[in-house]
Amino acid sequence: MYKRIVLKLSGEALAGERGFGLNAEKVIETTAEIAELHALGVEVAVVVGGGNIFRGVAEHAKGMDRVSADNMGMLATIINAIALQDALEQHDVQCRVMTAVFMNQIAEPYIRRRAVRHLEKGRVVVFAAGIGNPFFSTDTAASLRAMEIKADVLLKGTKVDGVYSADPNLDATAVKYDQITYMEILGKGLKVMDLTAVSLCKDNNLPMVIFNMNQPGNIKRVVMGEKVGSLVTA
Ligand code: UDP
Repeated sequence: MYKRIVLKLSGEALAGERGFGLNAEKVIETTAEIAELHALGVEVAVVVGGGNIFRGVAEHAKGMDRVSADNMGMLATIINAIALQDALEQHDVQCRVMTAVFMNQIAEPYIRRRAVRHLEKGRVVVFAAGIGNPFFSTDTAASLRAMEIKADVLLKGTKVDGVYSADPNLDATAVKYDQITYMEILGKGLKVMDLTAVSLCKDNNLPMVIFNMNQPGNIKRVVMGEKVGSLVTA
């Protein structure tokens, strides 16, 4: 069983059927799975995306200055983080939101040592606002935070069962890799996570598991060491 994990949740994971915005039921369901891990004694840090609300590179940001658009994207992740915190507390799990863009009235500023202390005390930590800089993604934030807090693994929940040779929704010949190296992902340009995030994990030898979030119970299976999804290593 992994002891300390970083779970990257995309904004989409909180959107439900409509594909955008926040769906209260989806948020409760997702956080129920996090609460289950917490009950097992796993230290859980979540990095949440914002794509369900706003993405700097999205079509509707066209014509905007990239920095302005990305700032909006980072704010979107904070909205999601507060929703996660609220839902975790409904499951009786203590949670702290830490933001990379400081917003002290609403959440704590990200301070690495404090984040680690929260985890040691059994609180779930939600990292919001990515790394606090435009031109980055929350995938990269997840790799960075995982390294900083010395997580055992970075888990990335997606809509598909793992890493495929091509998009399985578009190409019937696509095959799934149970295990794959960082270099293969980078070399083949596989769209699993953004490439900055993958190279950061590679440089620091941080294992990643890419798995299907839409299958209930999968997060727990991965954490317990079952062969679910795709394992990415050196
Ligand atoms: N973002 C940013 N810097 C960061 C992380 C995120 O500027 O360090 C912005 C960027 O515009 C991004 C948006 O926040 O598109 C939402 O994050 P992301 O696209 O990673 O969310 P997800 O796809 O996981 O929902």
